[in-house]
Amino acid sequence: MTEFAIDQPPVVALPVDGTSAVFPVRRVYCIGRNYAAHAVEMGHDPDREPPFFFQKNPDNLDASGEFPYPPKTSDVHHEVEMAVMLKSGGQNIPLDSALDHVFGYALSLDMTRRDLQGEQKKMGRPWEIGKAFERSAPVGPIHTVDSVGHLDHGLVQLKVNGEVKQEGDLNQMIWKVPEMISYLSEYFELAAGDVILSGTPSGVGPVQKGDRMEISVEGLGSMGVQVV
Ligand code: MN
Repeated sequence: MTEFAIDQPPVVALPVDGTSAVFPVRRVYCIGRNYAAHAVEMGHDPDREPPFFFQKNPDNLDASGEFPYPPKTSDVHHEVEMAVMLKSGGQNIPLDSALDHVFGYALSLDMTRRDLQGEQKKMGRPWEIGKAFERSAPVGPIHTVDSVGHLDHGLVQLKVNGEVKQEGDLNQMIWKVPEMISYLSEYFELAAGDVILSGTPSGVGPVQKGDRMEISVEGLGSMGVQVV
């Protein structure tokens, strides 16, 4: 047995609907501007340019149903997204077999310190302090492909305190799930435990302490996330 020189950090593990088994997380990739209306609201051209990705940290994923308002910001935005969990991977994965690597799907949020992200964008610097902070990706239970199939259309919605703020359809993604997997695998070696956040529809905006977000994706149910 391996002897660790320091205490081993916990494995980040997410609940899987309908079983007590958990999903261990390896890496987290997030696509930017994957819904045309959101690209436009952020001041960009919605034409189909090559996709771009950033990363969050595995332990940024959080299934507690609470989102602690983070430090060093006064403008934290919600971005509702569908998360894609992989059970296998590889390099240069062809489009027509990309979905074979998907274990399941989950509701998620790409919470963003928009003020910090904006400063980094202006200076041409990386986005981590805007995107990859503690508990910045609330996530729901994973629904396996065996139970829900593959999701390529259906309503994506976010409400804050009961009011609809974001609404779109999975079929509006500029880059579809198989395309994201195939594209990423040209640049990285994908593997079991990898998670891809698939982008957010338009309507992003700020939350405050005490707000309750409710997110839903047709086929995955809904979940509440309390800002604390
Ligand atoms: Mn996002």
